[in-house]
Amino acid sequence: MFEAATLEERRRYYRDEWDVRDLPDFIKNDLNKREFGFDHLGKGPNDRYRVFKTTDMLKRFMRYRSPFAAYCSVAFYNKPRNRGEWLKSELIFDVDAKDIPIRSCGCESVCEICLDEARQIVASLVDTLKQDLGLKDIHVIYSGRGYHIRVLDESVMELDSEGRSQVLKYVVGAEPPKSKYVMESEPGQKPYPLEHFSIPLGYPAVFTSRIKYAILHLNGTEKIEDINPKLMKDVIKYRSMVENDEWGLFKKEIGPKRYRNLVEGMAKLNMGLVDAKVSIDLKRILRMPTSLHSKVSMRCMEVKNIETFEPLKEAVPKFVSERRGN
Ligand SMILES: [Zn+2]
Repeated sequence: MFEAATLEERRRYYRDEWDVRDLPDFIKNDLNKREFGFDHLGKGPNDRYRVFKTTDMLKRFMRYRSPFAAYCSVAFYNKPRNRGEWLKSELIFDVDAKDIPIRSCGCESVCEICLDEARQIVASLVDTLKQDLGLKDIHVIYSGRGYHIRVLDESVMELDSEGRSQVLKYVVGAEPPKSKYVMESEPGQKPYPLEHFSIPLGYPAVFTSRIKYAILHLNGTEKIEDINPKLMKDVIKYRSMVENDEWGLFKKEIGPKRYRNLVEGMAKLNMGLVDAKVSIDLKRILRMPTSLHSKVSMRCMEVKNIETFEPLKEAVPKFVSERRGN
């Protein structure tokens, strides 16, 4: 498991297992408006600016080249060959299992435990996107070592980087809740971009649930800004109160000033749940669903049900099972 695929295995994968018809519809529709990129040597995607007018042309390319990795843009362009005339971009949340701020496994790269923690985080982010922001056109992609959440609702596709950054902070719980959100332009203050959504602001609830998750997953050895060893020790000591949602009791034990430190520290930590650079980049290319993540020999694929998804069963290519048989 997690061993790199050989060129021969890649060829077999694209010849025998891969089917262009398995590409999700959200990629197949308007295929010719996206930029494709490829990595042929395992050194990063340097074959860029490719455009495919039809799925048939993409199929021929994949069969013939069996690339080490395949990517396509989150952006739609009128002229994708030179990334000209940008139209809109999907909103992306990239959760990589090896970069989660709190991992109970402590492994060197990726293992079954942190992959499952990434899955749980993704499930709760998707929940917030649906419940709080009313978004509907949401696709979860297993990338091979983590997940991409791809949102195609028209209300977010034209957001600029600043707007995306605000949505990101809301969804991951990266700022302690304010007493009041600026919903309309006031002198000297920018409007909170979530006015794009006709939603009741449930941010304190989102924030509480992210903080709760983080506190319950601490192992006590993490170095976190604003949280000194003594505070960490007390958080671990009293966290069963958090588990039972007895926040008042917990706050009393910790003390108001240290509680504030804890909240600030956790908020900064939450920012690391998602790779912010990916979310604010309007021209990013992302691993193409159905393609092979050759470094770990896993299939990049759309996840139909994140609650029950098991990557080590569902995303393992046939050639890996055959390797074990040999
Ligand atoms: Zn791990």
